[in-house]
Amino acid sequence: MIDFHCHLDLFPSPASAAAEIEHAGTYLLSVTNTPKAFPKTAQFAKGRKRIRTALGLHPQLVHERHGEVGMFVRLLGETGYVGEIGIDGGEESALHLDIQKDVFKRLLRACADAGGRVMSIHSRHASGEVIEALRGQPDSGLPVLHWFSGPIAHAQKAAEMGAWFSVGLPMLRSRRASTMIGVMPRDRVLTETDAPFASTPGENYPIKALSASVTALAGLWRLDERATQNQLNDNLRRMVTAADRFRAAARP
Ligand code: MN
Repeated sequence: MIDFHCHLDLFPSPASAAAEIEHAGTYLLSVTNTPKAFPKTAQFAKGRKRIRTALGLHPQLVHERHGEVGMFVRLLGETGYVGEIGIDGGEESALHLDIQKDVFKRLLRACADAGGRVMSIHSRHASGEVIEALRGQPDSGLPVLHWFSGPIAHAQKAAEMGAWFSVGLPMLRSRRASTMIGVMPRDRVLTETDAPFASTPGENYPIKALSASVTALAGLWRLDERATQNQLNDNLRRMVTAADRFRAAARP
């Protein structure tokens, strides 16, 4: 299975969560919330073939951590993956919308300068702003809109721009699920957990939530689970190829 957005470093024991993930044969994108967290988090992926670590600066932390943009730029050469980045327009974060937009733009530009990156993107209550920023920086790489919860029309617009989507159980079981999945191109969808958030509290990696996502997606796609997993695996393969290509294109 595939978990394309997981906060491995925020588990009570990241090392044992990484072991569980490896044991289950799950492919995982381990996202980070600040550049400072990247080096240590990348250690948990060491020797694990299916875990990749993304370099991030979470929009809800941007107003406190924008000083780490320089570190983000310096660390970009270490990975083909970026995340979690984006814009959050929720109540508290909306107070810092201007700095969030500015930092997101700078991060996208850094990705473009580095040859492009696969990017896991947060767009809660700010999907319009995120789409506008991505449109302004088309060379930034491949955007993967994580846990998309904006208007259907925005999902459609993002899809037309070539964006991918990583989807988890809360979305797949929501009332809008079938309309939302309907506008997401089937060859640009991956599954995610966003664990340890949005999962049942506890120490363990939510493997059951991940398999339930595949089941829910199979229902929405009207495919059997095997065909659904095959489609997801095929999508991941293309995504990994893109990340490798971006990294290889990076300037020395
Ligand atoms: Mn997240």
